[in-house]
Amino acid sequence: MLNIVLFGPPGAGKGTQSEKLIEKYKLKHLSTGDIFRANIKGATELGTLAKSYMDKGQLVPDEVTIRMLESEVNKNPDAKGFIFDGFPRTKAQAEALDVLLKSKSTSITLMLALEVEESELKKRLLLRGKDSGRADDLNPDVIQKRIDVYNSETFPVKDYYTEQAKYKGINGIGEIDEIFNSLCNKIDAVK
Ligand code: ADP
Repeated sequence: MLNIVLFGPPGAGKGTQSEKLIEKYKLKHLSTGDIFRANIKGATELGTLAKSYMDKGQLVPDEVTIRMLESEVNKNPDAKGFIFDGFPRTKAQAEALDVLLKSKSTSITLMLALEVEESELKKRLLLRGKDSGRADDLNPDVIQKRIDVYNSETFPVKDYYTEQAKYKGINGIGEIDEIFNSLCNKIDAVK
């Protein structure tokens, strides 16, 4: 299996690149943000809970997020591999993901990180908010909170994969296709 963690701060372009990667490598895309938003739309219990955190720019608690992710992986027993987008966002999530994949006799192949500086992220998120109407992209305070949470809780997940020699950083600024090619080169080098 080819299992990729697509990593990077809010607004780095994970969703855009995931769409292109799943097409090329025939992988299953699991975006925790998208799954939470689908639950909010469907007014499920999980959606109501997730919304209370997302609207404030906070992380949904690990226990809830991990359980949801496990159930999504279990729904796809025939997948050739996964792109994990927006997960893991904490060290506890990274550990849980390793345990889950190990139970399926597989593991993470690579962590691909889109590197984009903070001022560019803020510009992109505000622009996205205008188009998508995503509540968490419309409010500058919520955007700042998400970037702060990324720096304090999520960025350290990089070390977890660096220790396993799985971390690869990519410049996330430039043409979409150029960035996509850089990602593909990293994947093709280990495939
Ligand atoms: P972005 O990365 O652009 O901020 P996402 O769509 O990935 O957006 O996530 C939106 C929100 O969903 C996050 O701010 C957070 O509240 C919640 N969320 C998504 N993934 C996770 C996760 N793995 N753990 C905890 N909360 C998450």
